[in-house]
Amino acid sequence: LVLFQQSTISDLWSPEGWNFIFRRRLNDWEIMRVADFFNTVDTFNGLQTGEDVLWWTGDARGVFKVNKAYKMMDHTIQHGTTWPWKQIWKSKIPHKVSCFVWLMAKEAVLTQDNVMKRGITLCSRCFLCGETAETVNHLFLHCKYTQQIWSIFLNRKGISWTMPRKVTEVLMSWEEEGVHAKDRSRWRIIPSAIWWAIWKERNSRCFESIVNNVQKVKLSCILFLVFWCNQLYSNDTTSIIDVLDSI
Ligand SMILES: [Zn+2]
Repeated sequence: LVLFQQSTISDLWSPEGWNFIFRRRLNDWEIMRVADFFNTVDTFNGLQTGEDVLWWTGDARGVFKVNKAYKMMDHTIQHGTTWPWKQIWKSKIPHKVSCFVWLMAKEAVLTQDNVMKRGITLCSRCFLCGETAETVNHLFLHCKYTQQIWSIFLNRKGISWTMPRKVTEVLMSWEEEGVHAKDRSRWRIIPSAIWWAIWKERNSRCFESIVNNVQKVKLSCILFLVFWCNQLYSNDTTSIIDVLDSI
């Protein structure tokens, strides 16, 4: 009905109002529909003359900001549970490891359960214990092989620990236990060091068919921890014993 169907809003709107040009007179039965249409376009207030610009609705000035977007997503996706952003992004570990822990918290690491969700058929078995299907929470939290790595630190601090169901819960609980740690920054690194060592061992078994015993994986976990802790305070190099004593 409108004459110029490809017109933009700036072609049709001026501060005086809308200017639609119809190609013929309206029929009686069309008048109400056109009136409704005018009512609808009148609800778009706040129009200004000027060039079209991208306007992000999450910000009062229409400017996209990553931290505002993060907060919006954090608020809407996590349904009230606290998202452990600090434990993931403020931990002094290599950035690629932070990204990996973030994927773990999202339960999106490519363990066999997630590979199967992508349509690949597998007979899922945990590479470490061989007893159950491989999921993020099993591999990194509940597997009896993995538990041996956790126990290095839990036994050392005499903590009686019930492993939570999910990675996010582990990160929150670990932070709470950190109040007893001598050095909280170092304490915060421990879960990442465990998970990185476990993931390396899992991939060594999966892709190279090389199986290391648990002692070797414990050692590589401690070495990751010491290496990352030494980067924390760049002016002093601490030994393995010093790092373990300081957590
Ligand atoms: Zn297992």
